[in-house]
This record gives sequence, C-alpha cells and structure tokens, in this order.
Amino acid sequence: MKSTFRPRLLNGQTGDPALLLNLRWQGRALLVDLGRIDRTPAPVLLPIEAVFVSHTHMDHFMGFDQLLRIFLARDTTLRLYGPAGLADCVEGKLAGYTWNLTDEYAFTIEVTDIGERQTTGWRFAARRRFAREMVGPPRPFTGVVVADPVFTVEAAPLDHRIVSMAYAVTERTHLNVRTDVLAASGLRPGRWLNVLKDAVRAGAPPDTPIEVTPEDRRPLAALRDELLVVTPGQKVAYVVDTLFSPGNVAKVTRLAAGADVLFCEAPFLEEDLEQATRRYHLTAAQAGALARAAGVRRLQVFHFSPRYEGRYGEIIAEAQAEFAGQEPRYGGLERGRAALP
Ligand SMILES: [Zn+2]
Ligand SMILES: [Zn+2]
Repeated sequence: MKSTFRPRLLNGQTGDPALLLNLRWQGRALLVDLGRIDRTPAPVLLPIEAVFVSHTHMDHFMGFDQLLRIFLARDTTLRLYGPAGLADCVEGKLAGYTWNLTDEYAFTIEVTDIGERQTTGWRFAARRRFAREMVGPPRPFTGVVVADPVFTVEAAPLDHRIVSMAYAVTERTHLNVRTDVLAASGLRPGRWLNVLKDAVRAGAPPDTPIEVTPEDRRPLAALRDELLVVTPGQKVAYVVDTLFSPGNVAKVTRLAAGADVLFCEAPFLEEDLEQATRRYHLTAAQAGALARAAGVRRLQVFHFSPRYEGRYGEIIAEAQAEFAGQEPRYGGLERGRAALP
C-alpha cells in the first residue's frame, strides 16, 4: 500500500523525540513531539501545520523555539496540542523574548490544552505581542482532537507521573489513482485529481461534477470507479514516556489498535526493569508487548537511553522478539490477563 503519511523520526532512534508526518501530495505535515530540531533544514519544517506534544519535559519540547523562529515572519497559524498546561508552557516560552517589532506579523499560535474531560483553546498572535487570549468556550473531549477531511488525530492521556499524551493519526480513506488506467484514458493528471479525492472523502453525491478540464466535466462516481482504488486509511500511533501499568496498557492497546506502525519508546532494556518502572518509562520488551497486544503491523522503537550506546541493537532485538511473541515475557497481554507490575 502506498502510504499517505511518510513518518520520519527527525533525530533517529537515539535523539530527541520528533516524528514528522508528511502528507504525501498535500504539501502538509504534522509533527508529533517537539524535541530539538535545529539540525533539520527549515524547508522540511515549514509544511508543519500542527504539533502534537506528548508532554513538556525538555527533550520533548525544546524545539519550540526553533519552530517559532522559522515561522515568525510567515502568514500562517501553527497549532499545538498537548496535555493541560501546554498553553502555560507556551506562554512562558514566549515571555522569554521581546516582541516590540512584530505588530505587522500575521503569525499566530493556537494551543489546545487537552484536559481530562474538555479541551481549551488559546491564541497567541504576533501582532498582539503574543498576549494570551482564550478561543471560545472549552469543548468536551471525547478522544478525538483533530477531525480533518484527510485524517483524524486521537489522543490518550498516559501516566508518566504527569500526563504523557499518546496519539494516533488515522487517514480517513486511502485513495490511490490507477495510473495505468489514467494514462490509457488519455486524461491529463492535474489538480482535478485532488478535487476528485476530496469530494470522494467528503462523501459528495455520485453525480457531483468534477472539472477535468474547463470543457470536460464528468460525474464523480464515473471517475471514482474508473480511476481510484479506495482502501482503508493508514494509521500511525505514537507512545512515549509512560509506565507499564494496567491503565496505560489498556489505553495504548485501544488507541494503537490495528495501526500500520506504532512508534514506541524503548529507553530501557528489560534487565533494567526496576529503573524503567521507577522512572515511569517502558522497557523494550514492554514496548514489544504493547505492539503485539494492539495488533499493529509494524513496531518502530526509539527514544533509547544513551546509557546503552553500543548496545542499541539489543534494544531493537528485545522489542521485536517480544512483538513477535517469541517466548513472551508479557504473554496473554492481548487477552487482558498478563501479569502486570
Ligand atoms: Zn522523554
Ligand atoms: Zn518525560
């Protein structure tokens, strides 16, 4: 399957968490977590329209300044989502600079604090020297934080002694063009293909006219049936900095269920289980067990502790072995009856 999201860890498996999701063909991108990103070229970061922050420990949030610097003179809105208190952290960051020359700037930051039962929106506009303003009344939180025509983003608050938010980004419907049929039909590829896809995704009526050229309008259904392959959307799940507790396991397996890929932290080896638990982090085996229980297709572990430098291969091997169910340490998790610490 051709993937719409092209997920990429900007700092690999060992650097700060920052997962870039490029939306193929759309010129749009999402970022999950905001660790240091100063080695990523600006053109890679500019398509980002929303950032989903797990929590504001430094290694997950220090990239904020870099993103701000790149976006400041742009006529755009950058949206940030994260656990309740994120807006306080953004406000604190912004208070660290002087904003007397930004009155003409159109750049705006919108922050959504995801609380237990409701989300609260805040706006920080450059032209108002980033003074904090509330955006409308709080809204009930039901698990979905973004419902875009192309994708949805769900969030689940996990226990890391503070909230560490896990996310799942799911493409609504995956639409591929049959390029061979298109070529044979003599129609020229163009923007109309995106118009067609958008209309199909939005559930537009079958007779909706699609303008292939100014002189050539055809009904949506005919073009869809001839040119598009419609398959279920791709799903990317993201879990970092969390304790392996019954509550967290239940939330992760629900959120990540059936994901095409789960990006999961694995900072510790199982041999250091005690330390992992004390620090509210997962071991590699626990990451593998979560992936298996959630029935994901692929597990990508990252956020390795530098203490294992030279042994990163062991972390990956431990996680993948548990994921594959080879002599599982956390057997039965998928049926909800594992022995949990
Ligand atoms: Zn971390
Ligand atoms: Zn943390």
